[in-house]
Amino acid sequence: MNDKFKKNGHHFDSVDLTELSQEIISCRKCPRLVSFREKVAREKTKRYQDQEYWGKPVPGFGPADSRLVVIGLAPAAHGGNRTGRVFTGDLSAKFLMKCLYNAGFANHEYSISIDDGLSLNDCYILAAVRCVPPDNLPTREEMNNCFPFLSRELKILKNTRAVLLLGKIAFDSYISYLKYIGTELPKKLTFGHGNSYLIGNIMIYASYHPSPRNTNMGNLSEDMFMSLLRTIKTYLESPDSRSDVALNR
Ligand code: SF4
Repeated sequence: MNDKFKKNGHHFDSVDLTELSQEIISCRKCPRLVSFREKVAREKTKRYQDQEYWGKPVPGFGPADSRLVVIGLAPAAHGGNRTGRVFTGDLSAKFLMKCLYNAGFANHEYSISIDDGLSLNDCYILAAVRCVPPDNLPTREEMNNCFPFLSRELKILKNTRAVLLLGKIAFDSYISYLKYIGTELPKKLTFGHGNSYLIGNIMIYASYHPSPRNTNMGNLSEDMFMSLLRTIKTYLESPDSRSDVALNR
């Protein structure tokens, strides 16, 4: 991909994303999360004792001109916090990447390390919070601290036409972003698996998070998730997705 290129009248700048990623990686704004991510990286888990953990914030990845943006909660302790790439090296990543591959959004079905050859197709993945939180629960203050990174990254992704929100925290974060940029929102916006809303020229889709807890308990099956991805794919291929009613970015 060129560093700067033009599509549909928009300039896409992977340099902006690279610069933002560097800024994210060096952030130490949340003392509790800095301490936790480094503790996990020091202590490791038995299975990965021989590995060097990343132990820093985890930026998004994928092409800057993607039409689909997938937003998760935060890196996993022994997934993104170990490998340095979001949704990489844990069971959530295994579930997500298999489905993205089957829907044509990835070049292969595994996401195990930063050098595994994975490339995303028309899909960009990021997390609402960039550091692993204890018990997967960031505080309100930590969410607020990290919000500018979310906002800036979403603004760079100018070709977005569909946003898939994995879990209620990702859903609420994206709604906060829409409010922040002054978007007029529908009166009723509720999180539930499969709920979708057209806002401006972007269709947003809610999904249960593909965490082992949800997938093992049967709250989220591959069939359910694939069905949602097929719906998104159909939308992206429809003339409706090409509407140029831009959000206020
Ligand atoms: S959660 Fe976000 S704001 Fe807080 S330290 Fe990590 S990158 Fe920085």
